[in-house]
Amino acid sequence: MKRIVAAVVTALILILGGGLFWLDSLFEERDAKFVPSIAGELDAKSVLAVFAHPDDEQLITGLLIRANKKDGAVTRIITSTKGEAGTPLPQISRTEELGIIRHAEVLKNGYALGVKEQLVWDYPDGGLADANYEKYVARLKNQISLWQPDLIVTFWPESGFSNHADHKRVGRATTEAINRLRALNPETAPKAIAYILAPRPMMQKFGGETGSIVAGNQPDPTHAMSGEGWAKIRGWDIHASQRGYVQKNYGLPPAIVHRLYDKEHYYVQTY
Ligand SMILES: [Zn+2]
Repeated sequence: MKRIVAAVVTALILILGGGLFWLDSLFEERDAKFVPSIAGELDAKSVLAVFAHPDDEQLITGLLIRANKKDGAVTRIITSTKGEAGTPLPQISRTEELGIIRHAEVLKNGYALGVKEQLVWDYPDGGLADANYEKYVARLKNQISLWQPDLIVTFWPESGFSNHADHKRVGRATTEAINRLRALNPETAPKAIAYILAPRPMMQKFGGETGSIVAGNQPDPTHAMSGEGWAKIRGWDIHASQRGYVQKNYGLPPAIVHRLYDKEHYYVQTY
């Protein structure tokens, strides 16, 4: 009897272990070059992330932490909207004040990630693509000129990590701002862009129609690095109004998801 129990337990452990190994593999892109730090790899001493919503920075915690702690780089974030149109998960404030709450949450998470300066702009959440494109590009261009980062991190314009229109617009406008700065003066313009990419196996397997669109419109990642999963788990506590986001999207809590989804994948463009 004991032997049978032992055999069953062993089989269950093997099945569970195999399942976890399989789940983990869905969050990997094996052909990307694995590096300790994207900023370190590019010798960047100043990094600027340009995103759409409070909590988008959760996608690049590894890049930000390692740039700062390991490579001594200065890190900054521009968040283009206050995220006021998001779904509260759970509701922790009056709905009309969600933008104020999320504004504070991204500042708190940025501080926890060692970010030196942050701007949270007031473009309409969900309406960034309808805002005046030329003015948005000019505003980005001005801010990049002021801070003069070596490395910019943003969304891939064709897929935006989740096919969100705001994400795609940020990626496009940021790329355009950099191109214009390079045309003016390549010496002071950013030397590289790192586009954060979604892990395609997971997007294809479980991402539904959106996942297929994202996976089909992304380039092959050039680099991968540790995502500092612990910082993402902490970040979802800091983003208290979005704490249930991971559970809703993946069916598992952040403490499990970010132990499996523990890498960040980038397409790096250098000049
Ligand atoms: Zn977003």
